[in-house]
Amino acid sequence: MEFIVDQMLGRLTTWLRLLGHDTVSASDFALESKEDEFLIQFAGHKRILVTRDKILGSMAERAGVRVCLINSDSIMEQLEEMSSNYDIDLEPKMTRCTICNALTRKIRSNELGMLKKEDYIPEDLVEDGIDFWICDSCGKVYWEGSHWDNIHERIEKLRERVASKVSLTKNF
Ligand SMILES: [Zn+2]
Repeated sequence: MEFIVDQMLGRLTTWLRLLGHDTVSASDFALESKEDEFLIQFAGHKRILVTRDKILGSMAERAGVRVCLINSDSIMEQLEEMSSNYDIDLEPKMTRCTICNALTRKIRSNELGMLKKEDYIPEDLVEDGIDFWICDSCGKVYWEGSHWDNIHERIEKLRERVASKVSLTKNF
């Protein structure tokens, strides 16, 4: 399942990538005008268009594009809305770059020296022997830092909400 997300939903783009979904954002392109036409054309039959814009949504549907219309302002509720329509993988992972959507790869031990030269990575972290991932496309390096616990916690709560909704639907 692949998505294209409108410019208003930047955080949702990041979270979808964090959950491993191939997600293109309108912000990835320098669009001066006609964003709507571009998004519809780019989505085609391949990508699901995720938007809060009802007019764009109905235009896209008329053009045969699958549309996921978002109502909420809250990022976790947005993911919940998507989960009720699509099989969103609610498991954070390091497989995709949250900045540029390219696939990442695990850094090999013989490359760790290179990390020490990157001044934004604390040297003691590199020496700790934890795992790092790199996006070869934009150079961003990832590791499971303290923010990672927070991500897991939020997704865990979301999973519980989604699961309780599913069991409610089954009961009625
Ligand atoms: Zn990247």
